[in-house]
Amino acid sequence: MSTLIMKFGGTSTGSEYALNRATELVFAQTGQWDHVIVVVSAMDGVTNLLLDCAELSLSSDFSAWEEKISLLRERLEGMIRSIFDGDRSRQPLLDLIYRRMVDLTNICQQIRIKGSIDPQDLDEIAALGERINAHVFSALLCKRGILSQAVEAINLIVTDTCHQSASPIQPETDACIKTLLSPLLAADTIPVVTGFIGATPEGKTTTLGRGGSDYTAAIIGKSLGADEIWIWTDVDGIMSTDPKLTSRARLIPEISYQEVYKLSYYGAKVLHPKTIRPACEDNIPIWVKNTFNTGSEGTRISKSQKPAMDTITAITGYINVILFTVQVEPGRELLMIKDQIHKHLVNRGIHILLSSLQEDEYTVSFAFDRKFLRRAIQVLIEAPILGSFDVPISQVQSTDNMAIIAIIGSEIHTSNIIQLKISTLLEKTGVHTHLMDRDTTPDCLVYLVNKNDVMTAIKNIHDEVIIHEQMIPFKAPSPIHHSELTLT
Ligand code: ADP
Ligand code: ASP
Ligand code: MG
Repeated sequence: MSTLIMKFGGTSTGSEYALNRATELVFAQTGQWDHVIVVVSAMDGVTNLLLDCAELSLSSDFSAWEEKISLLRERLEGMIRSIFDGDRSRQPLLDLIYRRMVDLTNICQQIRIKGSIDPQDLDEIAALGERINAHVFSALLCKRGILSQAVEAINLIVTDTCHQSASPIQPETDACIKTLLSPLLAADTIPVVTGFIGATPEGKTTTLGRGGSDYTAAIIGKSLGADEIWIWTDVDGIMSTDPKLTSRARLIPEISYQEVYKLSYYGAKVLHPKTIRPACEDNIPIWVKNTFNTGSEGTRISKSQKPAMDTITAITGYINVILFTVQVEPGRELLMIKDQIHKHLVNRGIHILLSSLQEDEYTVSFAFDRKFLRRAIQVLIEAPILGSFDVPISQVQSTDNMAIIAIIGSEIHTSNIIQLKISTLLEKTGVHTHLMDRDTTPDCLVYLVNKNDVMTAIKNIHDEVIIHEQMIPFKAPSPIHHSELTLT
């Protein structure tokens, strides 16, 4: 039995044109595999609009909130009227949008009465985008004559209660996926599953983290023993850097799970980092493909062999970073203190981007996304950790407006040539590096720089070191013709 998971992101479903392309792509695969399962995220920009509604429901300007909801409703209804003109799905879809907008209004009104938003409210609201789109996508497949059914992952992905960044509970999730999807597949019906969302065992809606639909595709792929997972997006595949930063970004035809994990962990939005683990555990290849350019084969992510030494595969960056520096009494065991604090921060869900210790200054430092600031302060105040090292909270200094650059390449931390090239270039272009981390992983160099410098630094390193010196090894797999690898 061959099984394919096809995931379509917001950009691949955000307009009538995109939806038509995406459903054509599904149609093209139906005869090629025994089973095809589709996963969709919300239409482009819809999750942000929904979350804006939640924020605005607390503001004194009531009309701004009403305007946002009308804007969203008009956009969704306009698309349905146009796509399903004269089709029998049109009215049921318009009714569905109406009901979801009533749900949105009700939750926002409750937030207004409470005077505060909790993570559970945000999950209920954020999930509405996928809970509309799966039905639209499925109806469009039916319009093309393909048997299909929308499946809301609230009944499929059973998660813990960590709202906004929930993790699936594996045995329960596996059981639900098999129970709900197998009968559909047996009846040759393509399930169109909502990405990004799940529910606790008590039935409370959760989300897997922003961009989490990719992760849903991998969770389902692993449960069903899929042969391949195809992530459809708006770029040709995994590139040497974000193509929005430089037109010289190049397609990487093949890349390892490990390298993509690092790339996405350090900010490349193209794939959610959690997608990698379920696929890697069962050796399921992931392809990243362009919905709007099927002439490009895309990127194959697998346990591929390591690229040559002294090469850089890609560069990425993370903005809005804050640095915490903890001053420790001389004579204390710095490494142990760093590891303990690191563990506490990670256990509370803080995504640490860099940690380092400075022996001469008796300090340990941690850099993370600014959105975790409040939680990090709580961890440091609440946890007995600082007290146990006799470190008062006043000894913790924060530095704002920082950014991270991560350079990914095989065994890069031992490559003096690359490190020298990068530091020379950064110096030449006036970019000051505050800290560098090369201890945590052999395949990645991480630098902390000022937020204002990050775009210039990435562009310069990319264009001067990766592209100019042609350091990306081109190991094009056989179906790819070199003419398709030209620079954009
Ligand atoms: P989707 O809506 O399909 O989930 P996303 O916006 O989440 O799409 O991810 C695709 C985007 O990721 C691209 O438009 C691109 O700007 C960005 N991106 C960042 N880094 C990279 C990279 N190294 N390669 C490809 N795309 C990247
Ligand atoms: N719609 C969700 C988001 O915008 C999930 C996703 O796009 O994968 O974060
Ligand atoms: Mg995405």
